[in-house]
Amino acid sequence: AEMFGQLTSGLEAAWTKLKGEEVLTKENIAEPMRDIRRALLEADVSLPVVRRFVQSVSDQAVGLGVIRGVKPDQQLVKIVHDELVKLMGGEVSELQFSKSGPTVILLAGLQGVGKTTVCAKLACYLKKQGKSCMLIAGDVYRPAAIDQLVILGEQVIVPVYTAGTEVKPADIAKQGLQEAKKNNVDVVIMDTAGRLQIDKGMMDELKDVKKVLNPTEVLLVVDAMTGQEAAALVTTFNVEIGITGAILTKLDGDSRGGAALSVKEVSGKPIKLVGRGERMEDLEPFYPNRMAGRVLG
Ligand code: GDP
Repeated sequence: AEMFGQLTSGLEAAWTKLKGEEVLTKENIAEPMRDIRRALLEADVSLPVVRRFVQSVSDQAVGLGVIRGVKPDQQLVKIVHDELVKLMGGEVSELQFSKSGPTVILLAGLQGVGKTTVCAKLACYLKKQGKSCMLIAGDVYRPAAIDQLVILGEQVIVPVYTAGTEVKPADIAKQGLQEAKKNNVDVVIMDTAGRLQIDKGMMDELKDVKKVLNPTEVLLVVDAMTGQEAAALVTTFNVEIGITGAILTKLDGDSRGGAALSVKEVSGKPIKLVGRGERMEDLEPFYPNRMAGRVLG
């Protein structure tokens, strides 16, 4: 199923109930608001977010009055649209670049979310903007992850710094960064080990690596399929290691879209990029405005 497909049709039910009305009132929006609430919950938007959203939309709707040429159902669509954009952070959150020396991007995330793939996709994306990149293989627990990164690096024609599995990630980071500086690389992207679940070992390792790299961006890679969990995950990583944003992957899958809608509001951190496929070109900025458009169909 198309992401947001169910949400879109759930919301349509709300607009339909306002056909023939002259003006939005507390009474006639009650049922549409219940539809909106239900649709958001079914799309895996987190409950506190849904509550605030519904409250804000109904407050605005009731105060609106008659607007010439705009029917009440269209008024409500517009309010929901603007509120969705706001929810997702409003503007696009651009990647930041260091003013001197290489920009360092540290990637974190649980196992299987698409972190290694994102490393190469991000390099591919930045190369198109004319930046030279280098990848650092820091997932020392899975030799296969290092091999995979090397293969992907070859595919996007970007050098990969590896030091095997016997060296501590923080030391690999230090050596890799030195190498990047020597070669005047614009952007260094470091892959790190993920675990199936959050654990202290992973967090401590990330803290050590972060200290060594002093990264411009610390991005948490999150699988959109985790739905409700995604927002809490971003919050936890932010509290533990301090992140600058998230990358949401697998938007081409049959996620219900809740993660895209909840992450910013729950964690305070923006989604900066989204992955929507397995090809190296399938990474793009997260546009709240376009996302809202997709939600409304
Ligand atoms: P890691 O364990 O976090 O490093 O995850 P990987 O990068 O190895 O990715 C795990 C799997 O997810 C691989 O089969 C990837 O091809 C796949 N994958 C990653 N990103 C996406 C995406 O945006 N869409 C789809 N459909 N698959 C993805």
